[in-house]
Amino acid sequence: METRKSTFERPVINRVNAGLPDKFGMHSKLRSMPEIDSIPVESLIGLYGSPLFVLSEKTIRETMSDAKRAFTTRYPKVQFAWSYKTNYLDAVCRVFHQEGSWAEVVSGFEYEKAVANGVEGQFILFNGPGKTTEDIDRAITQGSMIHLDHFDELFLVMGCAERLGKRAKVALRINMDTGIYPRWDRFGFNYENGEAWQAVNKILPDSRLELVGLHTHIGTYILSTNAYAVATTKLAELTVRIQRKFNHTIKYIDLGGGFASRNTLKGAYLPGTDTCPSFDNYAEAITASLVNSEIQHDKMPMLILETGRALIDDAGCLLGTVLANKRLVDGRLSMILDIGVNMLFTSFWYEHAVVPSKETSDYTENTTIYGPLCMNIDVIRDAVQFPVLERGDHVVVNRVGAYNMTQWLQFITYRPNVVMIGMKGDVDVIRKAENYSSLSMHEHIPDHLIHFRL
Ligand SMILES: *Cc1c(COP(=O)(O)O)cnc(C)c1O
Repeated sequence: METRKSTFERPVINRVNAGLPDKFGMHSKLRSMPEIDSIPVESLIGLYGSPLFVLSEKTIRETMSDAKRAFTTRYPKVQFAWSYKTNYLDAVCRVFHQEGSWAEVVSGFEYEKAVANGVEGQFILFNGPGKTTEDIDRAITQGSMIHLDHFDELFLVMGCAERLGKRAKVALRINMDTGIYPRWDRFGFNYENGEAWQAVNKILPDSRLELVGLHTHIGTYILSTNAYAVATTKLAELTVRIQRKFNHTIKYIDLGGGFASRNTLKGAYLPGTDTCPSFDNYAEAITASLVNSEIQHDKMPMLILETGRALIDDAGCLLGTVLANKRLVDGRLSMILDIGVNMLFTSFWYEHAVVPSKETSDYTENTTIYGPLCMNIDVIRDAVQFPVLERGDHVVVNRVGAYNMTQWLQFITYRPNVVMIGMKGDVDVIRKAENYSSLSMHEHIPDHLIHFRL
């Protein structure tokens, strides 16, 4: 009789880390997230599909009030302007506008969006290095603040104002050394080498332009509050110099965005929730530098903030579904989700907190979390201690509100629904998932390519 030899299965050794403390300390359990604003994750996915972006209006408003409180209790004239590129879904922008924020835009498209959202031109700050002549004409006509990026743009604005016979409201974008490296010196006029002062001296004598503000945006995810103190001090010094030489009062100082959100950067030693400064920390650095500056007290400028990621990151979650588990050649466990980097752009620089939607066993394994794309770069988490989930189980990716819903790519799969949970627990689809017809609408097939035979 022939006996069948059973097939060899490679052994895998895994550290059991459930429950007991070991020499590395107590094992920490991944807390599951069964609901968002009291709405079960399962029912959200059931109704709106997977993957699904979920925004909490409550979290947006609470974060915004925290930021406003931190600044307005320290300085009398504070104005926030919502950074459109951080998340320009109309519903999101309108929450911020209802909270009193102006609009900060960096393209003609974003400008159109702000106008369509009902923001009047005088409340739009127009940043960015790529404004077209049409963009500038519209901004001048509608009385927006044009934040100048370079000399060519300065001359362009002069020309447009001349042709339109209308005075242009401009602000200078200034880059500087704040101790943050690499320096963002590609935007605006440099402070230290005198370029900014040179621009001031071209603008102020020119009757076609009105210099209303000084602006800087020193970078993004800036953990150093001192960098803001340095930036504020330098803008204040310039304000004083302009007052002295031209007897001209600068109406606003704009510190841009850049406050860190509580996400964890890749390779960071401590989690972002521990290292991210609070709004109070940033506000203290900025307002103290302004108040202590040489600006005359009756000429104190309005303080504008274009905070983006720190105001919206926490308010967004991305829900997804496990498609498969797979053992890699080296024995590592991998999990494939229906969430790809095409919709989670920020996974390139954040270690996003991915958690299961329901209670799991304490047993975890070192797991690599992949997306569904047929691309090697489609990695959501390189290595994370994760419980073993089954196909069909759901996960929640936390803190995805900033930049994902604008930088996402239509690549390989459709972009999913985005819902917002309102203040009363009502759920609205604020951006419909793409489908075949919404995408093919943009394509055209030339006549000679319509037919083929295989
Ligand atoms: C992107 C951007 C912001 C917002 O930056 P965050 O880092 O998200 O706060 C603000 N101002 C300007 C000019 C920007 O380009």
